[in-house]
Amino acid sequence: MRLSRYFLPILKETPKEAEIVSHRLMLRAGMIRQQAAGLYSFLPLGKRVLDKVCAIIREEQNRSGAIELLMPTIQSADLWRESGRYDAYGKEMLRIQDRHERELLFGPTNEEMVTEIFRSYVRSYKDLPLNLYHIQWKFRDEVRPRFGVMRSREFLMKDAYSFDIDFERSKTAYDRMFVAYLRTFSRLGLQAIPMRADTGPIGGNLSHEFIILASTGESEVFCHKDYLSLDVPGEDVDFDDAASLAAIVDTWTTPYAATDEMHDEAAWGAVPESDKLAARGIEVGHIFHFGTKYSEPMNAFVTGPDGKDVPVQMGSYGIGPSRLLAAIIEASHDEAGIIWPKSVAPFDVGLINMKPGDADCDAACERLYRDLGATGLDVLYDDQDTRAGAKFASMDLIGLPVQVIVGPRGAKAGEAEIKIRATGERETISLDAVTARVSA
Ligand code: ATP
Ligand code: MG
Repeated sequence: MRLSRYFLPILKETPKEAEIVSHRLMLRAGMIRQQAAGLYSFLPLGKRVLDKVCAIIREEQNRSGAIELLMPTIQSADLWRESGRYDAYGKEMLRIQDRHERELLFGPTNEEMVTEIFRSYVRSYKDLPLNLYHIQWKFRDEVRPRFGVMRSREFLMKDAYSFDIDFERSKTAYDRMFVAYLRTFSRLGLQAIPMRADTGPIGGNLSHEFIILASTGESEVFCHKDYLSLDVPGEDVDFDDAASLAAIVDTWTTPYAATDEMHDEAAWGAVPESDKLAARGIEVGHIFHFGTKYSEPMNAFVTGPDGKDVPVQMGSYGIGPSRLLAAIIEASHDEAGIIWPKSVAPFDVGLINMKPGDADCDAACERLYRDLGATGLDVLYDDQDTRAGAKFASMDLIGLPVQVIVGPRGAKAGEAEIKIRATGERETISLDAVTARVSA
């Protein structure tokens, strides 16, 4: 992509309304635009990152055996009356009337709708296990939308829903998602710690929030330092092997970890002082087993091996891709701007032409742009006639992992400079070597 033809509205001023670094950087880097309180457009650079985050989430959901569908954002109030949540949900739910005065709502979540789909088609335990997910916009009329896309009113969610014949199998479904989440966050360049979460009136201990440690996080968290060095399951993890999934979950739930709501002073007291990590955190995912909470009132029954009909056991599993953009930036930035992990960077390489119009510079850059692109890399080529200082500042701000800088002297000598954004390391190499180096 040539910058001269792209839409990258970089702000020079630091926007006053932004209280936390990710919000500031997302506005300055031209990733998002606020349209009204808690409502954001994702500008082209932001959209690229959002797509990459979703692609990783999708790959790991699919790997674990979950199946993607797409449900609408607008739902009928009657469906929510079946579960009793229409009245219970309160002011966070945006209620809408259509021209026939039918009551609708903008979905804050999809348990009811997916249960309706399930009960319409599935009758037998032989069709289980089943896990259906989608990545769809949600609306919650948050009391205090803030911090940009970190807590917005309209936000993207990946929500998965598992269906099983009995508790034991639904625990395995839970473990599958737990393991898929560990892999997902790790691939996003994040260290996410699963923390026991409140299950509310349903009880049990099958609910975990996945939390990223960050000083600007909204939750207060307490965990054992061991979490920082636990191994994340590899690509070869067998999602059909219930015992090994359970073992992974055990390993990841044994050291102490809790948010302030679930904090247990006695258990915390037993953690050696030097292993204690009391910090702030951002919730990026939440998994929840709720058994028959929806299947019973909504009549989602299946016939078991013994011929008896039972309400299906369910769980739901959420990740917030739009919040993740902000969380990744909170975890990875410096004074100059964002430092994208390679896996989600909007472009792989930033190519800077220091002197557009200079024949050597233009020729070298055109060649690099072509060659780098031919290896499958996404290149953002700054071909604009602007000051070198501004070019460097913008490229640092948007945080692409690698920069290739071509100036008139270097171009004449057949050289370019490579800069690694994360470390600031710079090296001058011959133009011929750039493509191999960058794509390595
Ligand atoms: P929170 O406690 O932060 O309000 P929640 O418990 O209401 O979150 P869930 O209902 O479990 O969240 O939603 C699943 C995921 O969706 C969350 O882990 C988070 O990543 C994302 N999410 C929830 N609310 C918002 C929001 N207002 N803005 C952006 N992302 C959100
Ligand atoms: Mg909430």
